Amino acid sequence: MTIQWFPGHMTRARRQIEEKLKLIDVVIELLDARIPLSSRNPMIDEILQGKPRLVLLNKFDLADPQTTQAWVAYFKRKGLDALPIDAVTGNQMKEIVPRSQALLKEKIERQLRKGIQPRAVRALIVGIPNVGKSTLINRLAGRKVAATGDKPGVTKGQQWIKAGSELELLDTPGILWPKFEDPGVGLRLAATGAIRDEVLPWEEVAFFAVKYMVQYYEEALKERFSLDVEGIDLENPQEVVEVMEAIGRKRGCLQSGGRVDLEKASTLILRDLRAGKMGRISLEHPDDGVDLSVER
Ligand code: GDP
Repeated sequence: MTIQWFPGHMTRARRQIEEKLKLIDVVIELLDARIPLSSRNPMIDEILQGKPRLVLLNKFDLADPQTTQAWVAYFKRKGLDALPIDAVTGNQMKEIVPRSQALLKEKIERQLRKGIQPRAVRALIVGIPNVGKSTLINRLAGRKVAATGDKPGVTKGQQWIKAGSELELLDTPGILWPKFEDPGVGLRLAATGAIRDEVLPWEEVAFFAVKYMVQYYEEALKERFSLDVEGIDLENPQEVVEVMEAIGRKRGCLQSGGRVDLEKASTLILRDLRAGKMGRISLEHPDDGVDLSVER
């Protein structure tokens, strides 16, 4: 469930994370691999106050592998180590411990020189709602410890969860808000399923997704719907709507009289997209040319 964020929520969420920072060595920042910047908190650098940080690009199973590599390079240029993972199957999760230790290399070496045996790395997982925080915590713990759908502002007693002998996690993740005031970000979040469906303008969101796919995923549209979208004028909304209608027709979304039910078609398009039935699709690329800078 997505939370309605109000200034009070944001302040409280921020304060909760700031308190937890004192207890931990590393922050694990969880992003959606399909939309790494749109799923990122706009104030993250400020909130984390220079804590060592590992970026995880979750739901890699749904994201375009090539685009994800471009994102890894993007974060590297920003001085951040980013690791694509899939918290449902656990793919690449074994990398989390060595990558976290690498971030603390100097501290660990200093301790070893003094003859101190370094303890397990203590980490806090942070991310926006629905990015997969609970799934990841449960997976790392090897049992169900985190309830999905945590609410900000609900404080429980802090507990450490052991994820093997070298990693300990705080049991409640830090919940952050996305940059939802930006319409482009809102569309990306909605298309990937990060926003509550009851409040979605389905047609508008599907329009965005289909336009993006016409531009960057022609092959996927051809494969899934036998649609040839070559030469479509992306500046002409009507042509994009015609692609949506063509998909609707193929998926049997017809009203009486044979007209396409665009609302229903939009729902199906988004459900297919989110379930990965259109293939592995990312909705954001570092070279998109859109200004997606975080610190604004
Ligand atoms: P939270 O709100 O950040 O704790 O997010 P959840 O852990 O509740 O996950 C939200 C949804 O994303 C759930 O339906 C998960 O099954 C799904 N999910 C989480 N991680 C992955 C992943 O790596 N791949 C896929 N395909 N789905 C995921």
